[in-house]
Amino acid sequence: MAVPGNPQDKAPAELAATELFAVDAYLWEFDTTVAEVDRETGRVRLDRTAFYPGGGGQPCDLGALKTGAGTLVVTGVRRERGLIWHTVNADGADPPDAGATVLGVVDWTRRHQLMRTHTALHVLCGVIWADYGIPVTGGNMEPLKGRLDFPFPHMSADLGAAVERRINDEIARAHEIVVDFVPRSLADADPALIRTAANLIPAEIDPLRVIDIVGLDRQADGGTHVLSTAEVGAVRVTGTESKGRDNKRIRLEVLDPEGAGA
Ligand SMILES: [Zn+2]
Repeated sequence: MAVPGNPQDKAPAELAATELFAVDAYLWEFDTTVAEVDRETGRVRLDRTAFYPGGGGQPCDLGALKTGAGTLVVTGVRRERGLIWHTVNADGADPPDAGATVLGVVDWTRRHQLMRTHTALHVLCGVIWADYGIPVTGGNMEPLKGRLDFPFPHMSADLGAAVERRINDEIARAHEIVVDFVPRSLADADPALIRTAANLIPAEIDPLRVIDIVGLDRQADGGTHVLSTAEVGAVRVTGTESKGRDNKRIRLEVLDPEGAGA
């Protein structure tokens, strides 16, 4: 699939060759080679992977590794000291040896739900910043459900309903979403990136991966997102809570397009 902005061309070559999710969120099946096996913990490292290891509030991918000898279920993926480890359940069988070729298969239903949810949370960020000038301070998500915290002085169900309408309006505008890689010298002077505290990311991370919902929201981000806000579907604000004087939480659910308003 063509990805707008050709992130493959701008990404550091090593990243584009090994962390496939960073440049193409739509790749869910890939050939790879086992780089290292940790038999004690039942984990494997791959020469290249499309499995997102989790981070930035987005849970890791799940799925399978298919070998000549059978299928290993991937029950978790984690980054440790820069390396991505896949925990596999081989049903008593041993993981493959280093050097073995495998077919990686990401659970696409879960991944795509997380891409839609993650994108919906960016739309929420963009709307709150545009309408109230308030930056996000934290958040989390699972497939089709997410929450973000903002230092709002007040929060109400009415405000939640207004925010829900604004999110769905922006989704319907079908904003294009571009994966960009921005040199640190430019990123550190970009008002949108300063607002989202990208300057707190260690200076040796250069360039910065930036997710740009064109015309709405722009932030440094390692996660996976859809190509257009229209692909999110629809959003329902399911809760607004006060978590303290200057911390208010907005919860949302992502619905399929035909489920909107149901
Ligand atoms: Zn994101």
